[in-house]
Amino acid sequence: MAGGRGVRARGHRAAVTPQGEGPYSTAWRRYRQWSWAFWIVFGLYLPGLAFVSRTLGWTRGGGNAIFYAALVWMIACTIIGYRKWNFGCPRCGELFFRKFDARPWRMSWQHNPFARRCMHCGLPKWATRGPDPR
Ligand SMILES: [Zn+2]
Repeated sequence: MAGGRGVRARGHRAAVTPQGEGPYSTAWRRYRQWSWAFWIVFGLYLPGLAFVSRTLGWTRGGGNAIFYAALVWMIACTIIGYRKWNFGCPRCGELFFRKFDARPWRMSWQHNPFARRCMHCGLPKWATRGPDPR
């Protein structure tokens, strides 16, 4: 990174942007944060419950605490999962992993959590810019 500060890039941002960065980078970074948060919260469920049960004890009136811990976990998972699975495509603004199938014999939401590209505009996952260079 040579002299990134002294150079006055007026309208030439694309030229100094490091590779891998693009107009959609911020959106993907946010998605990655939600994704990480989701898996962390998801994976912490059993260890978390084990911790609560060991701290409070199953028998000594700890049942309520465990119930509340599970409840909080479920709410957190729902909220974070909602943000993760309803991620808006950075290019077209539609839901990246969901699409409403309007064909008369379907009329239902298609949901592909592991979609490799946007279900609306086909933007590849993790693409930092549109496939067309100009
Ligand atoms: Zn899209």
